[in-house]
Amino acid sequence: MSDTSARRIAHIDMDAFFAAVEQLDHPCYRGKPVIVGGLGPRGVVSTASYEARQYGVRSAIPMSRARSLCPDGIYVEPRFERYREISQQVREILLFYTPLVEFVSLDEAFLDLTESERTLGPAEAGVAEIKRRVRDRTSLGCSIGLAPNRFLAKLASELRKPDGLVVIQPNEIQEILDPLPVGAIWGVGEVTERRLQGLGLRTIRDLREAPPELLVRELGAVGRTLHRLARGEDETPVVPGRETQSASREVTLSQDLYAEREIESALRPLARSVASELRQERLLAKVVRIKVRFGDFQTVTRQVSLVAPTDSAYLVEATAIDLLRRKVALEGRGVRLIGVGVERLSQARAQQLPLFDSEADSR
Ligand SMILES: [Mg+2]
Repeated sequence: MSDTSARRIAHIDMDAFFAAVEQLDHPCYRGKPVIVGGLGPRGVVSTASYEARQYGVRSAIPMSRARSLCPDGIYVEPRFERYREISQQVREILLFYTPLVEFVSLDEAFLDLTESERTLGPAEAGVAEIKRRVRDRTSLGCSIGLAPNRFLAKLASELRKPDGLVVIQPNEIQEILDPLPVGAIWGVGEVTERRLQGLGLRTIRDLREAPPELLVRELGAVGRTLHRLARGEDETPVVPGRETQSASREVTLSQDLYAEREIESALRPLARSVASELRQERLLAKVVRIKVRFGDFQTVTRQVSLVAPTDSAYLVEATAIDLLRRKVALEGRGVRLIGVGVERLSQARAQQLPLFDSEADSR
């Protein structure tokens, strides 16, 4: 075994964050099903409170479906400014324990507590204290997992939500992983899960005991990664300060758009909004990407890498439009959802001339 077994990695995840903030700010929402998301005719659920989940309402389902599952729910648009404010309070708490905090999103972060154990004492006590301090400061609940690596820490934080605290010690890894379905592995989506099931691999134990050559033959490089994860191995480091790894905006259109000009008009404000977030956060982006989902749900993303990082609304918009025109074959199909994102973010310092250097398409 490598020395990664000695690492102490924590994953913290705020419970039903957006919905919990709404319940905090609106006492009359407490104890009731609250659903946060796009309220347009084709909006999607961002977060459902635990009360709403009892009706089967989940993140990412269409809002119209949520409304039929839970007609008496409280439906609200997200207030990102407010969520960011509370997220900031949580950040300050986490950074007290270690500078090695990787912010994944507004409500999720990884911490590497390996080194801080020497000065602050056992990580078990540390994460319990973090939970308490988050509750004291924000009045909100969170779930934390503590484990020898990121993969297991995230899995642990999800095991006993909400308000969970799960520690996985190195000698418990196999016993905890083995009975879980392969879909519990981060990154195994429905398609991969079906393929694995087609090979007779249903649990993580099945996966762990499968011959690696079979997995590689069937799934390529992913097969090797899955086999490692099934053994609970993950060497990925916690990269501090990655808070805004990417920024994106997308919108499900109220009706499918066919005209190129209309599709472009829908894309432009999203690009400008992403660029404005970059400037607000004093970040520059190296990669611009777009996402187009057609009426039949086929989804394509296209991206391009810029010569120099930028926060220019003009450049992000022009690049997004260029990608749409040159890289997406619309072929008269209706567009249902459109999005713009930026990646490879860095702190803004000196501005440089933005030019294209290379282009790459992704799935
Ligand atoms: Mg969460």
